[in-house]
Amino acid sequence: MFAMMEASRQEALHFAQDPATGLKAVIAIHSTRLGPALGGCRYLAYPDEQSAIHDAMRLAQSMSYKAALAGLEQGGGKAVIMRPAHVANRGALFEAFGRFIETLGGRYITAVDSGTSSADMDCIAQHTRHVTSTSRGGDPSPHTAMGVFAGIRASAMARLGSNDLEGLRVAIQGLGHVGYALAEQLHAVGAELLVSDLDAGRVQLAVEQLGAKAVPCADLLATPCDILAPCGLGGILNAETVGQLHCAVVAGAANTQLADLAVADSLQNRGILYAPDYVINSGGLIYVALQHRGESLTTITAHLTKISERLTEIYAHAQAEKRSPARVADSLAERLLYGR
Ligand code: NAD
Repeated sequence: MFAMMEASRQEALHFAQDPATGLKAVIAIHSTRLGPALGGCRYLAYPDEQSAIHDAMRLAQSMSYKAALAGLEQGGGKAVIMRPAHVANRGALFEAFGRFIETLGGRYITAVDSGTSSADMDCIAQHTRHVTSTSRGGDPSPHTAMGVFAGIRASAMARLGSNDLEGLRVAIQGLGHVGYALAEQLHAVGAELLVSDLDAGRVQLAVEQLGAKAVPCADLLATPCDILAPCGLGGILNAETVGQLHCAVVAGAANTQLADLAVADSLQNRGILYAPDYVINSGGLIYVALQHRGESLTTITAHLTKISERLTEIYAHAQAEKRSPARVADSLAERLLYGR
């Protein structure tokens, strides 16, 4: 356990259990060097405790990197609640989790993540103020989409020499909360949309409302386009799929798009510009972090411009150093966190 913590430089791991509600939770605090650790709470069934702990630590580290590169005075953390097979009272379980967070005295701030909702955050909020994305807070997805849109413009500028997206073919995988909002913004500036989603209804809506062209899910990655925007699940770029791509840029909202960093090198070798996912999709984090601090919507929207500035900086380093933007982003984040 300690070796695992040391390998990814985790500050602390906290555990809580509450037999009355069935709560079994892990909070990984990766770093509080730049501020309190902020990161979502997952509520998922895990095969064993080890995989839950591993997930919390891995995600907490990526939150530290994301917050650092987003220019936030915020550290990185993540919570994982092991979802029981049966739960008698979900609200009571999340209230117990709220009491757990309160014991950490503000070193960890929670948020919505896979398997949790703003209603769960409302239950947590009954016992601690160290919680974001409650039903009063609003959905961060439109802000994530705004950041991705700005990031796509910066990426087009770096790779294609212009940030004018009119007439560019953008293939979007996944038309959920972020993907659909992104599609709307791209449509508004005259981009040509090629879209897929597991939910045929979402695709039909984009076809009717945005003039998008529907592409079968299995064909989207190989579809010839200028920009590929993965906005579905993570892990879609691997040794096999990289060879299928026919695009100049990969820039989308999905978390952990790369199976590993070697995939980033393959993209680089193929001349495909990759927008590091945790940089381009940081709009949602910027929204919840600044909203939690009581900042205005104007300040939050202004802060979103840091995403395209950071990407432009990363691309300049990547070009000068002949390295993948993904590797450059990690190095920059580590410099901000550890001063090296
Ligand atoms: P969502 O669940 O609302 O939407 C995801 C959509 O992708 C769904 O409609 C789903 O049917 C579709 N999808 C999944 N796999 C697919 C596939 N193989 N082919 C085609 N469609 C597929 O999720 P979201 O909130 O829009 O988030 C999208 C991605 O962005 C996720 O990876 C998420 O982790 C990441 N992200 C989201 C936010 C946010 O603010 N919501 C912030 C940062 C990162």
